Amino acid sequence: MNTPSHSILNLAILDRGQLKGCTWPIIVGSWLPDAAIFVFYGWAKVMGLPEQVIWNEAYYTPVWQGIFAIGNSIPLALVGIGWFLWAKSPGGVALSASALLHHLEDLPLHHEDAHQHFWPLSDYRFISPVSYWDADHHGNYGALAELALVLVASVVLWRRVRSRWGRSLLLLVNTVYVGGYWQFYG
Ligand SMILES: [Zn+2]
Repeated sequence: MNTPSHSILNLAILDRGQLKGCTWPIIVGSWLPDAAIFVFYGWAKVMGLPEQVIWNEAYYTPVWQGIFAIGNSIPLALVGIGWFLWAKSPGGVALSASALLHHLEDLPLHHEDAHQHFWPLSDYRFISPVSYWDADHHGNYGALAELALVLVASVVLWRRVRSRWGRSLLLLVNTVYVGGYWQFYG
């Protein structure tokens, strides 16, 4: 799933009840699993690698896969939730729960780029038949499912978010998503 989708879905799901108001920890938790991928992309750009090489070769080298596995670890997120529950830190719980949700949202939508979600217990990867982007693996349906989830979550958030910048951001992300989907699959 695309990183902004995680933020919108996780805010809609987590920013209420006991975790209401933990907006920033939820946002950070929704980005954290992908943080290493942004670092990787920055590094690859600095090295002058072409896009094709970045996503088809460099991305799959064992070193980077090992680093990505840490950020995408379900056991690590669970340990985080346990630790912050014990420490009575709602912000920490929100952050770890948001990371865990990120992993669960990625599980059904990654094929070739599936993460090692069970690091360090196992290097097993769940290879979903559906990808959120790869046309060879029902990318049109995967992207549509992601778009639909984001739209529904955005309606939920729209009613909750009062600030102008919050609503503008929601509008912007959804406009880019609908435009992007239209361009690729319309
Ligand atoms: Zn992800």
